[in-house]
Amino acid sequence: MKRTKIIATLGPVSNNEAVLGDLLRNGVDVIRLNGSHYRNNKDIQSDVALIRRVSAALNRHTAIFFDLQGPKIRVGSFEKDGVILVTGQSFLIKKAPDVVGTSDYCGLTTPNIIADLHPGEPVFIDDGNIRLIIDRVDDEGAHCTVQQGGKINHHKGVNLPSSTISVSAITEKDEADIVTAIACEVDYIALSFVSTADDVRALRQCITSQTNSPIGVISKIERSSAVDNLYDIIEASDVVMVARGDLGVEIGLERVPEIQKRIIRECNRLTTPVIVATQMLESMVTKPTATRAEVSDVANAIYDRCDSVMLSAETAVGDFPIDVVQTMRHICEATDAHLAELKKSKYSQVKRIFQNKSDATIFCKAADQIGEETNASVMIAFTSSGTTALISSKLNPSIPIIAPTDNPYIARKMALYRGVVPLLIQESFQNIKSWGEMIQMALDSAKTLGMVHSGDLAIITAGYPLGRSGGTNSIRMIHVQ
Ligand code: PGA
Ligand code: MN
Repeated sequence: MKRTKIIATLGPVSNNEAVLGDLLRNGVDVIRLNGSHYRNNKDIQSDVALIRRVSAALNRHTAIFFDLQGPKIRVGSFEKDGVILVTGQSFLIKKAPDVVGTSDYCGLTTPNIIADLHPGEPVFIDDGNIRLIIDRVDDEGAHCTVQQGGKINHHKGVNLPSSTISVSAITEKDEADIVTAIACEVDYIALSFVSTADDVRALRQCITSQTNSPIGVISKIERSSAVDNLYDIIEASDVVMVARGDLGVEIGLERVPEIQKRIIRECNRLTTPVIVATQMLESMVTKPTATRAEVSDVANAIYDRCDSVMLSAETAVGDFPIDVVQTMRHICEATDAHLAELKKSKYSQVKRIFQNKSDATIFCKAADQIGEETNASVMIAFTSSGTTALISSKLNPSIPIIAPTDNPYIARKMALYRGVVPLLIQESFQNIKSWGEMIQMALDSAKTLGMVHSGDLAIITAGYPLGRSGGTNSIRMIHVQ
């Protein structure tokens, strides 16, 4: 069984019933909507409706996350099809709005940030393919020297790794997108270019002022300031993403592997789900097979113990959206199986030390150990908030964690957690009066879905009476009839 969750970005090649259905059938658990590519709410609404419709037909709790564009800086437009910059030449980034660029100057989509730039600071354009250094800043703009030339096209991304930019992490476009995303009942909202925990709290405040729904907040770590404030950001977030695209440009590609490992380790210590993203199987945008290096990269993210791996352009605009998901699934299955074997070995180092020493943590650890020693075939973790299932998942058992909940939002949110199989119980937990009734109900639905069979040994954790979040206080071992 695949335990690592797969996130696929929706785009022009996949936002139709046929391809989306194939993505879900082939192992996609979570769909990402990329805010940078939506210009109006109608498209967001119709894509969410499509995902809900296709998931319902397949009887799946698919999580949807809306990824806010954030304060992404871009160059303006250029004459013709773009221009060539030559190494050593001068180049001016103009303060004036709506500049049409030439090989001597260009504009920015956010010209006011030029006031925050200083001589000596680098300007990276198009993922660092073009590099400038600022010589001086005056009323006209930032005068630069080209250190690495190349071709620039319209609206390429700009990174300013050494500058301190005074823009809010939530832009006007983001605010409008948040309203739409909440109205569409997405399960997570992701914040781009987080710098501090305050940015995360601002998004949460913005969400809770509009809805009571438990929409999760995902923080994208893609700036060096976010790496500096990592612990506070993780504590303020529901989920963290290692956003390797911008991160690589801002901190240098060679530091990405170390920072990826550190982010995942700290997220696991703080019981926070963590996603590894960007260029995981990039060559499959145009080719039917992955490179060895890409396959190793996906496997290594799983060995680092991430919860989810993400596809971006591969499923949004690529030529092989289904093949790439199948490739991803095969890597996940092979690596997950090896991790399960490693956990059984007596030299295993996988015992986790949790910072969070709650009763729920203690019960989940005990249940995990009982599961290992009895060779149980399934864990069943009753959960109101998803927390108990998440803690069990961080213990990395080698068997599935079925997570009965009475809340459809929580069922979908758990789609992102490693090894967790969400199970929606139709009866409200408040109305379930006995252990017997509760276990019967969960086993019946799990059997109907083919997740549990008679003869199986199930280890069940629950907070009894049910319906209080974080109240796990019981373990049962059940031979399924
Ligand atoms: P993006 O985020 O694709 O929205 O830029 C991911 C990344 O930077 O890696
Ligand atoms: Mn990014």
